[in-house]
Amino acid sequence: GARLSLIAQGLTGSSVVESRRRADRLAEQGVRILDLGAGEPDFSAPPVVVEAAMQALRDGNGQYVDPRGLVALRERIADMETTRHGHPVTPDQVVVTTGSFGALSIACRAILDPGDEVLIPEPFWGPYRNLVQMSGGVAVPVPAEAIDGRFSFPGEALAERITARTRAIVINSPNNPTGRVLSPAELRAVADLALAHDLWIVADEVYGELVFGDAVHRSVATLGPEVARRTIIVNSLSKTFAMTGWRLGYSIARPDVATVLARMNHYSVRCPTSFVQQAAVTAFDSGWQAVEEMRQSYLGRGQLVARRLARLPGVRFAPPEGTFYAFPRIPEAWGDGTIFAARLLDEAGVLASAGRSYGASAAQHLRFSFATSTAVLDEAFDRIERLVGVAP
Ligand code: PLP
Repeated sequence: GARLSLIAQGLTGSSVVESRRRADRLAEQGVRILDLGAGEPDFSAPPVVVEAAMQALRDGNGQYVDPRGLVALRERIADMETTRHGHPVTPDQVVVTTGSFGALSIACRAILDPGDEVLIPEPFWGPYRNLVQMSGGVAVPVPAEAIDGRFSFPGEALAERITARTRAIVINSPNNPTGRVLSPAELRAVADLALAHDLWIVADEVYGELVFGDAVHRSVATLGPEVARRTIIVNSLSKTFAMTGWRLGYSIARPDVATVLARMNHYSVRCPTSFVQQAAVTAFDSGWQAVEEMRQSYLGRGQLVARRLARLPGVRFAPPEGTFYAFPRIPEAWGDGTIFAARLLDEAGVLASAGRSYGASAAQHLRFSFATSTAVLDEAFDRIERLVGVAP
């Protein structure tokens, strides 16, 4: 009959979207909401990139392009990966996608058969689970443990959850929501598991350019050709160049896999928007100064948030090594992350994300995005201090 597919029926809505809608309703009633919930830069795309998009349109470049992406763009991406990340990539390994969402969906469809399992270490960015489910796969969250507010990578727990149906491990470093960067030893452990059990590694590197201090972003694919063969990297211009709404990303995989990904891209979207691809060429050629300026401001804002969190009694927190998120553990006396996030919104007008959306083991945590002004951050923490009764 004309019923929705079982996959469609199993798909749940996002709790993050829910709380944003609630914040919007409060704002309509006149509450001044301080938004520490956004998962995106508060900056606009660099002006040279905007100009390049407009010029491409004026030049009449609005036609379909190759489903793998523009050659010039794939060359820039391969070059960037090779020179900035020390990971030799050729353009035939690159497929330009509709954001990393696009890259992740074609990756899931390319590697999963119905019932195949994908291991996702907690805490993780929620949509991985839904993307795996949309491809007929089974997402297997792997709980992690936080010591003094810092999550350790659940390497051993990962190994214990491997079954005959396991197809892939998803890693995300720098991590949303923890801001953690995986160490070479942790990457090695993932690679060894993948080699020993013949698994794919899906490496989400969207925050790779946003690292602080001594932290270094390394791709798991740099651990050797045998590891690179089974790795699908997903990335995008969204966070790096503050271009979330432009919807431009890419996958990097070995050439035969890239060919399959390009076919799936073709039959999903035909090709990512042509003039946005042209603007992306300019982003890679001339956008790095802007990227560095944005990174510097995230660094300063993250330090502000760290200072403010340190004043809150009972809060455990590890400063992020990358991204623009802080992910503290709150004291049980405040309720769990879901309860406290609801109070924070209703009683203080501060929007933050409950840890539960990033996995059950993160239920006592909250994610604060610091992709917002220092004035908003300071006022938000003033309100939080009043709510929990910290003496000024
Ligand atoms: N991966 C992670 C870890 C993210 O945080 C996000 C966005 O919040 C994405 C992927 C998707 O971003 P996009 O599709 O804009 O590249």
